[in-house]
Amino acid sequence: MSLSSNDIKENLASIRERMRIAASAAGRDANKIRLVAVAKYMPPGYVQAAMSAGQHCFGENTLQGACSKQALLDDPQNEWHFIGHLQSNKAKLIPENFAWLHTLDSLKVANKLSESAVLSGNTLSVLLQVNIANDPAKFGLPVASVCPFVEELLQSGLAGIRLRGLMTIGRRNASRDETRADFAALRKLGETCAERFDAWHFAELSMGMSNDFEMAIAEGATIIRVGSSIFGHRTTA
Ligand SMILES: *Cc1c(COP(=O)(O)O)cnc(C)c1O
Repeated sequence: MSLSSNDIKENLASIRERMRIAASAAGRDANKIRLVAVAKYMPPGYVQAAMSAGQHCFGENTLQGACSKQALLDDPQNEWHFIGHLQSNKAKLIPENFAWLHTLDSLKVANKLSESAVLSGNTLSVLLQVNIANDPAKFGLPVASVCPFVEELLQSGLAGIRLRGLMTIGRRNASRDETRADFAALRKLGETCAERFDAWHFAELSMGMSNDFEMAIAEGATIIRVGSSIFGHRTTA
């Protein structure tokens, strides 16, 4: 089933309203929470419709998916977030096409990103992907590796990237309680890192998707990544 521009506009308005309610219940300001509209596998027209409704922050999990849309929808207001797993051979192209990367979990990739950001005159904001539930099927740093990783990353003094926080992807088939516990654990890990390192590097928490973003907001998410509730269900992954 395809969506009209108006459907997308209404879906966005409804997500914004739900964000407002969830934030207010948690005593937080919804305007300080970034909504990343995840447009993976969706046609450029859907992104265009969201742009017309005032949405300018978009997420993609492949370089190709983002570039094909960016070529058609050139708007300097747009802010693209790379949310997929990144292979190191693709790292070079990230800084010129994205403002944010949510999935850093390798120092080798960090070096490549920084090098290419410097060369292209960009700065890339990065989040560390944490495998908060230590799920063997998931990418991301195991919890115990986060502090040593940060230590090494910050010591490397990589000029092209700036570390801004942590990201996690919820476990598949987890109960609401398990998901909420994972979000709370990510927040606590962020707080621990903020005390140990510079708090500026841990200001952001990217967590929560269509099914659980309100819980993520209750646990302190500053960035939520919402796809199907805006653009409809995907036929691919
Ligand atoms: C696809 C995806 C989302 C959005 O998921 P929905 O359930 O459609 O909201 C969020 N984050 C990541 C990393 C994704 O790959």
